[in-house]
Amino acid sequence: MSALLPLAEALERVLGAVTAVAGVETRSLIAARGCVLGEDIISAVDVPPSDNSAMDGYALRAADAPGPLAVSQRVPAGAVPAALAAGTAARIFTGAAVPPGADAVVMQEDCAEVDGRVTIAATVASGDNIRRRGQDIARGEMALSRGRRLRPQDMGLLASLGLASVPVFRPLRVAVLCTGDELVEPGDALAHESQIYNSNRYTLAGLITALGCEFVDGGIVRDTPEDTAQALSAAAAQADCVITSGGVSVGEEDHVKAQVERLGQLDLWKLAIKPGKPLAFGRIGDTPFIGLPGNPSSVFVTFCLVARPFLLRLQGCADTAPPRLLARAGFAVPRPGSRQDYLRVTLRREGDGLVAERFPNQSSGVLSSVSHSNALAVVPPGSVVAEGDRVEVLLLDLLTA
Ligand code: AMP
Ligand code: MG
Repeated sequence: MSALLPLAEALERVLGAVTAVAGVETRSLIAARGCVLGEDIISAVDVPPSDNSAMDGYALRAADAPGPLAVSQRVPAGAVPAALAAGTAARIFTGAAVPPGADAVVMQEDCAEVDGRVTIAATVASGDNIRRRGQDIARGEMALSRGRRLRPQDMGLLASLGLASVPVFRPLRVAVLCTGDELVEPGDALAHESQIYNSNRYTLAGLITALGCEFVDGGIVRDTPEDTAQALSAAAAQADCVITSGGVSVGEEDHVKAQVERLGQLDLWKLAIKPGKPLAFGRIGDTPFIGLPGNPSSVFVTFCLVARPFLLRLQGCADTAPPRLLARAGFAVPRPGSRQDYLRVTLRREGDGLVAERFPNQSSGVLSSVSHSNALAVVPPGSVVAEGDRVEVLLLDLLTA
């Protein structure tokens, strides 16, 4: 039996083999959420474009406080101010350009205006309540770099530069094949109790579309060499990557391995992670191929840990590693395992930190363990964990977005 392959090594091999396949296209900002920037974005403007007021109040020269000062102009947001006459103040509103000559804004709560003259009841320093031109992004500055996956706040940032559309890598087409003679699509009746519903198709469809990829549905594939080969070829012809579930063990009903080898090339790994031991990686012709295990929790975990970074990189994304947090174990692992365990846990706040509560049934066939958890707690091979020990955790919401 071949040795168990540590995840870090598998990732190195998988990510080492990636070249971004997708071309760059221009998309409207609204349609660019979740897409990966295809070029660096250098700002052509200052944001904000002028020194402007952070408050509703009065703009003045700080040295003129406390007044009283004649109110010489009124500057709402969007108005073009005149230069501030010496010894006067301007009534000003949040977001309005500060009149040339003024060097501070005093909030209206600290001012009293009587008969067109304003008196200041606070100490005033030069620069108070002024948002400086270019303080967010200066002209010529790199606003966002190529390879950045666009989040809602990035869409807003790009809009603040005046961009209506951006260059992004075109979305990947990812084909999914679910192998197994026992599988029935939800909506159809099970003919007998030896059948089960195909859940992996839906888990994978959700994970793939959440990544911004197009889900290409290859349906259920029967456990014969002919059906498997035919489905793999058809999927490879229309997708940027083919993902299968099940059929990658070494049983005689497992045909994926042999057929991928026939159609391209394949590495079959016994990954040193739990859940999710069998995992295949290779090519069908020129199309990358990832063979996930069949068990529903294993599918979820191996997709998030291996397929997700691979697809992100294939899509041109620079940063594929999810952030790792620390929590205290609300459980114990008294015996060391030979694989890195990804326990499905729920994080809750306790005192000044987080506690990870383990879902009771960690079987790789129990998808409830994923549905009723919000994180994976990482237990390295050879380690034991006592209650209260620190463990690394990965937030599921960050792995599924
Ligand atoms: P396999 O690797 O094909 O032997 O599958 C391992 C386990 O996962 C078996 O219990 C299968 O019934 C189950 N399984 C495989 N594919 C699916 C699927 N698409 N949905 C739900 N369970 C599956
Ligand atoms: Mg099977």
